[in-house]
Amino acid sequence: MRVGVLALQGDFREHIDVLRRIGVPAIEVRLPKHLEAVDRLIIPGGESTTIGRLLTLYHMVDPLRARAGRDLAVWGTCAGAILLARTVLDAKEGGQPGLGVMDMAVRRNAYGSQLDSFELPIDMPALGDAPLHGVFIRAPQIESLGPLARALGSLPGGAIVAAQQGRMLATTFHPELTGDDRVHRYFLEL
Ligand code: GLN
Repeated sequence: MRVGVLALQGDFREHIDVLRRIGVPAIEVRLPKHLEAVDRLIIPGGESTTIGRLLTLYHMVDPLRARAGRDLAVWGTCAGAILLARTVLDAKEGGQPGLGVMDMAVRRNAYGSQLDSFELPIDMPALGDAPLHGVFIRAPQIESLGPLARALGSLPGGAIVAAQQGRMLATTFHPELTGDDRVHRYFLEL
């Protein structure tokens, strides 16, 4: 298993730290040649428009689309989830470059300015009974899932905050900021 974390922008170091803590060294992926060297990739939180533009600039979009969910397991957190989504609502004017590989629609910055950031418990039965501590930072919302994807985690009110489609995972929150490594371990088993 060779794990990479997309290191173009955003909180990639936090993911690398979690992986190191659980004994899985990860490489920083910035260029196609780094991508070729990994079979798992985390796309971190950050600014989805920036990450998407850099992916385009560095010629990473086509190789990612070709491999995601096949020989490359992929997990997007927050901005990463936006990049994975087939449909992005409230996309940046002038276009939102993305990968469009997961069968879901997400809305950017869905929680408005007052609720830019908040923390809530997340029910994620695949990870056990104990709820996860959900940290949301200008989070997107998963508005709908297509038939290929399924819900994996939700807020107390029922809103979906984690989804899976085979070897692709999306979370709208930030497990890498909490000290709870269950989602990282789950991803490493996909
Ligand atoms: N609001 C950001 C975006 O649209 C995502 C925020 C995050 O990744 N924490 O890309």
